[in-house]
Amino acid sequence: MTNASVYIHIPFCRSKCVYCDFASFAGMDHLMEPYISSLVTEIGHAHPMTADTLYIGGGTPSHLPASLLENVMGAFNNKFRLADGAEMTIEANPHSASREMLETAKKLGMNRLSIGIQSFNDRLLKTLGRPHTANDAVDTIAQARSAGFANISLDLIFGVPGQSAADLIADLEKAVALSPEHLSVYQLTLEEGTPLEEMVEKGKVMMPDDDEQLAMYESTVDFLKKAGYRQYEISNFAKPGKECRHNLAYWMGDEFAGFGSGAHSFTEGVRYANPDDPEDYIRDVTVGGESGVEILTDDKDKIIDFLLMRLRLVDKALKFEEINSKFEIIFEEVYNSALKNIEKHGFATISNSGFQLTSKGLVFLDSLLLEFEKV
Ligand code: SF4
Repeated sequence: MTNASVYIHIPFCRSKCVYCDFASFAGMDHLMEPYISSLVTEIGHAHPMTADTLYIGGGTPSHLPASLLENVMGAFNNKFRLADGAEMTIEANPHSASREMLETAKKLGMNRLSIGIQSFNDRLLKTLGRPHTANDAVDTIAQARSAGFANISLDLIFGVPGQSAADLIADLEKAVALSPEHLSVYQLTLEEGTPLEEMVEKGKVMMPDDDEQLAMYESTVDFLKKAGYRQYEISNFAKPGKECRHNLAYWMGDEFAGFGSGAHSFTEGVRYANPDDPEDYIRDVTVGGESGVEILTDDKDKIIDFLLMRLRLVDKALKFEEINSKFEIIFEEVYNSALKNIEKHGFATISNSGFQLTSKGLVFLDSLLLEFEKV
């Protein structure tokens, strides 16, 4: 692998949001220094390459002190050459993106900021367990602009318990009024073992049903289209030319190198995963200089994983020849029954050369993949 996308994971958060099952941790700030030292060591062991994109995600990267972010970027710059016009994204949350942090990130070369807003409605932010208000979010966007970020993405969530269709439109209106270059609008999913799941089980809150979720999704797509944002992935919308190149590489099945706890890498057809727990990660790197084990060793799992990513792209039918050459199979024959079933249920349209999900298929991607898993 000589050219790739690079991902660096920062697992620390100020508090844990009730719906979150990411590899992120609150109350572990005492591990920040040893963690960043391990990250520097792990990056130091990587093969040198040219990075087309860099994405520093989390967790909450903006929760790191500026000096530790400088250490991370020092290690990155020592090891990797940046391609001309490389996209360099860092994630930030409104409660922690201080002026100093934003200026440091800009000075270190970051040219894209992804801000976790989730909602401009304080009642819904409280339901989600977010430690910030709508006003904090608006302030952060203004600070980011004045720090020089010309490419900003905002994350929003729909399908929050207690969120009406009008609440969603109000959130979209506020977001669009702030003129971000990119918007990610995710459907809230109930993850196993999260406090939100317990709240739903105890009847404290109620998730919207499938029809309500589908209606919210369709109104989001419609609203953002009219506002000049092109949908290019299930949950992602961009002004012309502002699609996230880093994530596009994942969805297209390109190779990438990941560093830090919970990070995955995909190189020469093999996928590796680092342990989610920062303490395990620090221990691995301290002992061996590296971390990570091979995952997805079964061919069928690799195909399902590829479909999970690739089918997310909108207006980009998956050609049979693309998947056939990648996996050396005749996909349309092996998975014929699954293809027929998803078409019958209105999840996809199929042609002689490939297939494309409908908007219903995009919303229920996880369920329709079960059809392929059954084969
Ligand atoms: S800030 Fe993000 S990563 Fe951290 S707990 Fe909340 S949703 Fe999870």
